[in-house]
Amino acid sequence: MNTGRYFFHDRLRKILLVLGGVFFVLLALEYLYARFKVPEFHSTLVTFVIFLGALVLVWRITKEAYNMFRIAERISDMSDDGVVVTDRQNKIVYANPSVLNTYGYSMEELRGRTPNVFKSGVHDDAFYREMWRSIHDKGAWSGEIWDVKKNGDHLLKTLHIDTIKDKKGNTLYHLAVHSDITEMKALEAERDLLANYDQETKLPNKRYLLRRMKALIAEEIPFQMVLMKVRNSVYLNDRYTKEEYTESFNELRKRLNADNDEIFYAQIDTEFFAFLTHKNVETQDDFDHHVRSFVDLCEKPFSSGMRFKITAGALRFPKDGHGAEDLYNKAMVTFEISAAEQERYLLYKHDYHKTLSREHVLRDALYEALKNNEFSVRYQPIVELASDKIVGCEALLRWKSATLGEVSPEEFLPVADKYGYVHEIGTFVIEQSLQDKQTFDKESQTPLYMSVNASVSQFGEQGLKSSLLKAIETYNHRAQDVCVEITESRFVEDYDVLNKDLRDLRRAGVHVSIDDFGTGYSSLKRLQEMEVDTLKIDQSFLKGYPEKNDGDLLKAMVQIGKSFAFRVVVEGVETKAQHEFLVQNGCDRAQGYYYAKPLLKETFLEQIKNS
Ligand code: C2E
Ligand code: MG
Ligand code: MG
Repeated sequence: MNTGRYFFHDRLRKILLVLGGVFFVLLALEYLYARFKVPEFHSTLVTFVIFLGALVLVWRITKEAYNMFRIAERISDMSDDGVVVTDRQNKIVYANPSVLNTYGYSMEELRGRTPNVFKSGVHDDAFYREMWRSIHDKGAWSGEIWDVKKNGDHLLKTLHIDTIKDKKGNTLYHLAVHSDITEMKALEAERDLLANYDQETKLPNKRYLLRRMKALIAEEIPFQMVLMKVRNSVYLNDRYTKEEYTESFNELRKRLNADNDEIFYAQIDTEFFAFLTHKNVETQDDFDHHVRSFVDLCEKPFSSGMRFKITAGALRFPKDGHGAEDLYNKAMVTFEISAAEQERYLLYKHDYHKTLSREHVLRDALYEALKNNEFSVRYQPIVELASDKIVGCEALLRWKSATLGEVSPEEFLPVADKYGYVHEIGTFVIEQSLQDKQTFDKESQTPLYMSVNASVSQFGEQGLKSSLLKAIETYNHRAQDVCVEITESRFVEDYDVLNKDLRDLRRAGVHVSIDDFGTGYSSLKRLQEMEVDTLKIDQSFLKGYPEKNDGDLLKAMVQIGKSFAFRVVVEGVETKAQHEFLVQNGCDRAQGYYYAKPLLKETFLEQIKNS
């Protein structure tokens, strides 16, 4: 910045010019005096020169002060900020155009009045008392203040008041500079809405949730947190409108509000919500009861007929953690485990972190497995008990990971399901098994029955139906020789999702089997309505027979299956006695180590040849 230096040089130049001029005038006068010998000339000349000098000085100072005033006035005129100057009695002596435009007054209307003319009535007397106390004590005040315009509109501004004093410290003027921040605040509110609320539902988001948690933690207010996801949303979205969905959620909020002293909601993701409640829960049993009734309320049907099925993970502060992020992460772990285990809800336990780290190892290894073709399919024979012949097989997935070795499908499938790999894996099993079935059929007198396991998440948009029907066509199979197995618990809970695809598959001729039957609590009435051909009774019903298990329960289940005209298959047959028991009780088919373990394609081919 050279402005200061420039001013200095300019002044010096002018002073030198003036001095030079005076010097030449004096020289000229000295010459005249010597020439004409004027008496008293010396003293008159000195007086004149001093007078002239004083005149020049006063003129310059006044001119400079005037110029400075013009500059200040110009700056204030040009400023977007409002400037108001009041005298020592706090009467307005100056207001810049920004103030006049913003407030709608003319200078004449304001001159002589106090700034009370802008008082909005929003602030109480204490506010103004505090402001004046600061002006008296410190000579200044800064803050935000609501004012009112001439037309009655309110505006919010930041205000800075300064005092201009004389040398003795007496107040001469008050200078108030302010900016209108009404729009800025509106923008801030908008930004707040963007940052802290879900844009679609206008519910608080995760960021807001964490803020709220931090506030509660800071005040040491105990709370419970439930993270909850609507599991059957695919089906609900299909059947109900967005409005019905929102309405149901509002109904749920009312229900929860009625049952809880205070509640806070946040939307973390689509159909994924967080709730903070303040119930007096002393013991873990109280907490369990609280979360269970919470989940019950969520799953109660709504007036639209809609019904949520949820998975939840819950914990409480301060028992389960101390920081907001820490609590959130723990609740998330609990939720994820609850979702993977298909629970309605789980309460946080300290060892959940370990479970999750194994899950992440599996997730990363699964990603590699898909790239490196680490999957294969084994075939376990299914024997027709009447003829004692192999009539089919179950395709069972195997994974030999380069890093983890062999991992059981029961361990990795829930992880694959959760991280979205199940479709790719499922398609591989369908392709591989139906292609291999071509080879098997060539060796067998009649086409073999191929039973393929499927996860619920392969249905619907994931397209299991179309990939299965396509593969049947590609490999030229009869649809009735292909069966889809779905475990009973999934059948019961997610029937709404499965129903349509299963109906279509059955119409096309594909068989549907309930796997692990007896573990999923299907009601008999429900069983009758289901799109099912085969019941595959879970191996636990045969376990221990005859030593520790009299087989009565299994007998009853076979009878139920038969009375509904289902084909009945029993799995987990390990001994001759078990095999004979099934033959005696009219069971159709059986599968188990007694006949064969899940086999490599080549070994299974040998078995068929020898069968
Ligand atoms: P599942 O469908 O009930 O399959 C039967 C399981 O019991 C298989 O375990 C099989 O090896 C085992 N098993 C067969 N006979 C006997 C026996 O006599 N005794 C005993 N103790 N066990 C026997 P595996 O192969 O480990 O599969 C476990 C589960 O993983 C399967 O249960 C099925 O639910 C799932 N699974 C396997 N392959 C696939 C697949 O390709 N897709 C899907 N979605 N799930 C699959
Ligand atoms: Mg199975
Ligand atoms: Mg099974």
